[in-house]
Amino acid sequence: MKTKQIERRQFIETVSLGTIGAVVTSNVPANGSILTGNNDAGKLAILGGNPIVKNKVWPAWPYVDEKVIEKIIAVTKSGKWCRIDNFKEGTVATFEREFARLIGVKTCVATGSGTQALNSVVEALGIGPGDEVITSPYTDMGTIASILVSRALPVMADVDKESFQIDPTDVERKITNNTKAIMPVHMMGQACDMKSIMQIAKKNNLKVIEDACQAHLAVYKGKTLGTIGDAGCFSFQSSKTISCGEGGGIISNDDKLIDDCYTVQNHGTNRQGRSVTIGSKYRMNELEGAILLGQLAGAKERFETRNKNAVYLTSKLKDFPGLRPQKLYEGTESGSFYLYTMTYDKKYFNDAPRDKFLKAIAAEGISLSPYIPNGLHREPWTDHIISLNSYKKMYSSDRLKQFKEDLNLPNCDQVCENMIMFWASGPLLATQSDMDDVINAIMKVYENRDNLSLI
Ligand SMILES: *Cc1c(COP(=O)(O)O)cnc(C)c1O
Repeated sequence: MKTKQIERRQFIETVSLGTIGAVVTSNVPANGSILTGNNDAGKLAILGGNPIVKNKVWPAWPYVDEKVIEKIIAVTKSGKWCRIDNFKEGTVATFEREFARLIGVKTCVATGSGTQALNSVVEALGIGPGDEVITSPYTDMGTIASILVSRALPVMADVDKESFQIDPTDVERKITNNTKAIMPVHMMGQACDMKSIMQIAKKNNLKVIEDACQAHLAVYKGKTLGTIGDAGCFSFQSSKTISCGEGGGIISNDDKLIDDCYTVQNHGTNRQGRSVTIGSKYRMNELEGAILLGQLAGAKERFETRNKNAVYLTSKLKDFPGLRPQKLYEGTESGSFYLYTMTYDKKYFNDAPRDKFLKAIAAEGISLSPYIPNGLHREPWTDHIISLNSYKKMYSSDRLKQFKEDLNLPNCDQVCENMIMFWASGPLLATQSDMDDVINAIMKVYENRDNLSLI
C-alpha cells in the first residue's frame, strides 16, 4: 500500500489545492485519505454518492453564430450555389484564399471532404495500381479509402504507444520497391515525428502526403502542419475544429502539384477548361464555402483557447501515472486538439478495466470515452482487396501474402484498448473551472479505485 500512497500524494501535488478544493479539501483528514467513514462527497456517484457536476453543458459543436447563418442565407438567395457560378469571388474561392493566408501558403484547393482531398493528391502524384503508400492503421477510414480508390495498396505501419502516431522505424521497415509515398496522420491534431519521417522520405525518394484532417493550424518546429510534406490535407467534416458538414482542403507550396490537384478534383478539367486527366468530381459547393467563411472568423482564437485548456489539463495530469496525456514530439509548439487523449493504465486503478472507469466517471457528470474501437488493419477491407481481380493483377500473390502477414500491429491494438478521450472541438472551448471539473472527476474515481470492483 505504500507505493499507492506515494502515487496518490504525487498526484495531489500536481492538482493544485484550488482545483480539488471544492470537492475534497475539506474532507481530506490529516492522514490524507478521503475514503474514511460515511463521506458522501467522496463516494462514487455510480455507487450512490453525489456527482462532481450535474447536467453539465459544454460549448456546442459545430460552431454557429449569426454571421455563419447570414452567409448561408446570402448564398441561398443569390442562387449561385456552385463554385463555377462565381469563380473568382464566390465563397469557395474566397475561403481558399483566406484559409491559405491563415496557414501561410500560397494556395488552397477546396474539395467535398478530407477523403477527397487526400485522394486528389494521390491521383495528382500519379500514384495508382501497383503502387504502395505507407500509412497508419490508427486513423479515420478516409485515410485508407483515399489510397484504395486509386487502387494502390495501403501498407500499415504500427504506431508509437505513447504518442499514438505512426512509428517512423516501422515505416522504414515497410518500404518496398513499389512504395511511392508516406501518408503520416497527425492524430488528435498533434504532429507526428515529422523530422524522422521527412528524413526517411528523402533518403528513399518518397513523397509525403500529410493527413492533417484533424490538425488545422497546429505548429511543429515553426511550421504549420500540412506545409511540411509535399502536400497537406484537411477535413471540414462536422466534428472537426473548422467545419461545414462535409468538406476538405489541400495545401501545397508546389505550384504544379496544387494545380494538378485542382484539375483532379474538377473531373480532370484544368483551370483553362481543358479536360486533361482522370479525376472524379470532388468540388465544394458555395453553401459549404459560406459556412466555412463564417467559421473561419474566430478559428484562431478558438484554437488558442483549446491549446490553453489542453496545456492546463496536461499540467494537472503530468505526474499522475494512471492517465497519461498523449505524448507530444519535440518541436510541437501547438496542437489542434480535435480530441484530448490519454492512456488509461489500469494498474493504478486497482486493475479495473477501462470500461468501469468510464462508467464511474460518466456518473460523476464527465463524459470520457474510447475512440476507434480497433485499428483499421482489423477491418474486413484487407481480405476484400486481396480477393479482388484488380489487386491480384497488380500485386503478386507473394506481395499480397506479405501484406496480410504485416497486419500484426500490436502497438495499435494496445492503443485502441487503453486510450481514453475527451471530445475537444467544443468542450475544450470551456473555462478553466470546467477543466477543473474534469480533473476532479478523475481524481475522485482514482481515490475510490478500490470500489471500482463494485460496479
Ligand atoms: C476526418 C478524417 C479524415 C477524412 O476526412 P472526411 O472529411 O471525413 O472525409 C481523414 N483522416 C483523418 C485523420 C480524419 O480525422
